[in-house]
Amino acid sequence: MARVAYVNGRFMPHYAARVHVEDRGFQFADGVYEVVAVQGGRLVDEDGHLDRLDRSLGEVAMAWPLQRRVLMLLIRQMIRRNRLTDGLVYIQITRGAAPRDFKFPPPGTRPTLVMTARRSTLDPRRHMDNGIAVITIPDIRWKRRDIKSVSLLPQVLGKQKATAAGAFEAWQVDDDGLVTEGCSSNAWIVTEDGVLATRAPSSAILNGITRQSVLRLAEANGIAFEQRAFAVEEAYAAREAFITSATNYITPVTRIDNRPIADGRPGLLGRQLRQAYLDYADGPGAS
Ligand code: PMP
Repeated sequence: MARVAYVNGRFMPHYAARVHVEDRGFQFADGVYEVVAVQGGRLVDEDGHLDRLDRSLGEVAMAWPLQRRVLMLLIRQMIRRNRLTDGLVYIQITRGAAPRDFKFPPPGTRPTLVMTARRSTLDPRRHMDNGIAVITIPDIRWKRRDIKSVSLLPQVLGKQKATAAGAFEAWQVDDDGLVTEGCSSNAWIVTEDGVLATRAPSSAILNGITRQSVLRLAEANGIAFEQRAFAVEEAYAAREAFITSATNYITPVTRIDNRPIADGRPGLLGRQLRQAYLDYADGPGAS
């Protein structure tokens, strides 16, 4: 089954999908994006992702290229045309194609809207037996990490460093030695004392949609948590660690900088929250 992409009003074969060489997304990373998981043919946390898209667009002074309601219909078309049961839909909006000039393009320049879809070829249980390894790296990004911008070079370099070290993710660390987040995920620990902790939303991190849902589920299940920064040393000494993202849901972290976390096995609270999230993604979180 051939993959189908969407570019500026047209569905087309994925292999033929193109944007202009002077697209501002290509030239300046002048764009924002979202990645939404599809499970059982339905979107997971769609409202949250579209709310964040709205916020990202607003923060960089870009207008919606079409009505939100219309985008929701187009996303469903993507699922249908790609016969997607489990996978991801990627949505990117840029300030459009215009002669290369840093300042905003002339009024009337049409924004670029691109969507691609990808089937999940991965076993959802992967990483559940052994967990993943993460490394820590300095956070070298700009100061508006709350915007889901396509400017991802620091994360590209970070992930490559992780891969070269045999790890799955790199946790970025601020100048105070506190973990901000992964390159494409939020970072969590269960402290030595058993407290669930993840950094509070601010311009220092992307406020993950999965993160927000997991916090709601923790609250609903009477699991106490703290939204606060934690140091790398606190993570080394944690009882459990995990990451959250639309792509990897909740995935246990069992090694940080080559040190085993607790006994080096995925922890209990992470497993419990992961199951709660999977149930949510199958039920009230789906649309
Ligand atoms: N932080 C960063 C830097 C990310 O790129 C992502 C993935 N988009 C996340 C956190 C997790 O966000 P979400 O749960 O919305 O996928």
